[in-house]
Amino acid sequence: MPVTHSRSPSMHRVALAACGIAGDYEAREVDAAGFAEACRQLRNGDLDGANVTMPHKERAFGECAVVDADAALAGAVNTLANRDGGLTGWNTDVAALRSALFPFGSGEVLILGAGGAAAAAIVASGGEREIRVAARNREAAVALTTRIGGAMRVEVWGTPVAGAIVVNATPLGMHGEALPGGVLEAAGGLIDLAYGPAETPAVASARSRGLPTVDGITLLVSQAAASFEIWTGIPAPIGAMERAARAAETLKAP
Ligand code: NDP
Repeated sequence: MPVTHSRSPSMHRVALAACGIAGDYEAREVDAAGFAEACRQLRNGDLDGANVTMPHKERAFGECAVVDADAALAGAVNTLANRDGGLTGWNTDVAALRSALFPFGSGEVLILGAGGAAAAAIVASGGEREIRVAARNREAAVALTTRIGGAMRVEVWGTPVAGAIVVNATPLGMHGEALPGGVLEAAGGLIDLAYGPAETPAVASARSRGLPTVDGITLLVSQAAASFEIWTGIPAPIGAMERAARAAETLKAP
C-alpha cells in the first residue's frame, strides 16, 4: 500500500514536538528486502520504533520474538519496537477498534471484508458480541473466521443485519464508493475504517440518519496514539494528533 501520502508522519511529528521529544517519524515504502533492513535497524537500535502497514503486517508478526495478545490473535503486527535486543510487536488497530466498539455495548457486529483490518475487527469484537462477517469473496471470509476461531457466522455479501454495528473493513468509501445496498439502512451504528479526502458516503449517510458513527480518521488517530504510548511510555497528545490528521491534504495508508 503506498505510504507517500500517509498522515502518520504529520501526526507523530506533532506528537513528538508537543511532548518535547527530539526525534522524527518518516514514511518509507519498502519491499520485502526493505522491510528486512528496517527490522535490522530496529534490532541494532538505529530505529526506536516502526509502524507497519499492508502488505507487511503478517511479515512483521513473523519477525517478532514477542507479540502482544491482540497481535497473536489477529496474526498481524502494526507496531514494532526493540525490547531487550529483540523485536516485540503489537496490534494497535485492535486496540483502536476495541475502544471504538466499547460505547456500542454488546450488540451484534457485522464486519465487512476479510483482510487484515477485518481480522483486527473480529479480535476487537470478541467477548459477548455476536459476530457476522461478509466479504465479496466468501471463501476468504470462511478462511478468516476459521483461522481466528470462535463462534461467528459468514453472511452473503450485501446481506443487511437489522440493528448490527457495521464495521467497514474494506477500502469502500476511500474514493467515494458506497457500501452494498441495504447494509447501512438496517444498521444500528457504523465504524468505518475507510477514509479519504472527503467524508465517506457511509459516514455521511449514517450521520444523516442519526446513527452512532466512528470514522476512519478517529481510528487512525487512536491506533497512532496507542503506538506512540508504546514507544515513549507517555500519554499521547490525542487532540493535537487528531488536528494534524484531519489537516493533512491527502491520505492513503496509516
Ligand atoms: P486488505 O487488503 O488486507 O483487505 C481488504 C478487504 O477488502 C479484502 O477482503 C478485499 O476483498 C476487500 N475489498 C477490497 N476492495 C473491495 C471492493 N471494491 N468491494 C468489496 N470488498 C473489497 O486491507 P486491510 O484489511 O488492511 O484494510 C482495509 C481498509 O481499512 C483499507 O482501506 C485500509 O486503509 C483501512 N484501514 C484503516 C485503518 C484506520 O486506522 N482507519 C487501519 C487499518 C486499515 P478481496 O480479497 O476480494 O480483494
